[in-house]
Formats: sequence, structure tokens, C-alpha cells
Amino acid sequence: MSAPQTDDECRARLVQMSVVDENGCWLWQGWKTPLGYGATYYKRKRWPAHRLSFALLKGPIPEGMDVCHSCDVRHCINPDHLWTGTASDNILDCARKGRHRNSRKTHCDHGHEYTEENTWIAANGKRHCRACQRIRQRLRAGWPEDVAQAMATVPSGIRPVNAHWRRRATSTSAAAHVQNP
Ligand SMILES: [Zn+2]
Ligand SMILES: [Zn+2]
Repeated sequence: MSAPQTDDECRARLVQMSVVDENGCWLWQGWKTPLGYGATYYKRKRWPAHRLSFALLKGPIPEGMDVCHSCDVRHCINPDHLWTGTASDNILDCARKGRHRNSRKTHCDHGHEYTEENTWIAANGKRHCRACQRIRQRLRAGWPEDVAQAMATVPSGIRPVNAHWRRRATSTSAAAHVQNP
């Protein structure tokens, strides 16, 4: 397959090479840089895929400007998730500005509010919900789902005292003990 030549072919290729996820992100399926950005070629030059998407699907990138993601997904090339900010090596800063500009979601996918104490920002600028993280950790530790969900806002390190699942666990082991000869 020869490399796409015209802008229209390049636009078609950007669409073909991405998969839309449930957040509307167009996830680049081609080669990625070590930092997680999509990469491709355009007119014999290497381009970050999101910059090429912006340039071909939205318009020229102003001189010296960065193309930033409002969704924080580095390999997303959906032009609607991209905006230009002043040149900055600081990806976090870029992501934060995007959040302000687009007044992003106020709650996680599971309905927990992104308050200051319920949010941590990873090195790639993506927001994480602490409540969801606690639920995942507790499920891994063997908590029943309803208890883990109910305790989502309670900081880690606190265990429910006399929770029914503890009694259940105790009675199961007692029954097993009785049945053993
Ligand atoms: Zn996106
Ligand atoms: Zn959550």
C-alpha cells in the first residue's frame, strides 16, 4: 500500500486508523511514541497524529502553538477533543487548561464527584476518582461489592466492624470445620 498523498486521503486514513470509544475519543491504532501520542507521516514528514488531525480536520495550527487534549487521552485524534494552547512543554498545564476551557465532566463514570479530595491527577494529566480506586482495591481484597460501594467515600485503612460479610466468612469456615472428621 502506498502512502496516502492528498489531504483527502490523509483525512480518510486518520479516520480508518482510529477506533471510537465510549467517550467519543478516536483512539489511534497506528504507531505511538514512547509518551503515548499517535504518530504518522504526512508529506514525508513525521507528525503527531493528533496534530495532523487538528491541521487536516479543523484548520491550520497557529505558529508556535501546542495542540492539547481536552479528554487527556494522548492517542485520541478526535478534532473535537483538541484545542490549541500556547506552546508549553508542560503537558499537565496543557491538560489543566483544557479542563477549564471545556468545563469537563464533574463526576466520574460511576457518579462520584470530582472534588479536590476525591481526585488525583496522574503524570499523564488524566484525572482519577479516589472513590472508584478504593472500591477496586477493596474488591481485590475480597470485600463484597455492596460493602465496597457503600464505603466508597470512607478513606482506606478503615474496615467495617461486624460487617455481615465477616460474619458470613466466619460461619462458613465454622461449618467447614464441623464437617471435617
Ligand atoms: Zn478524546
Ligand atoms: Zn468514581
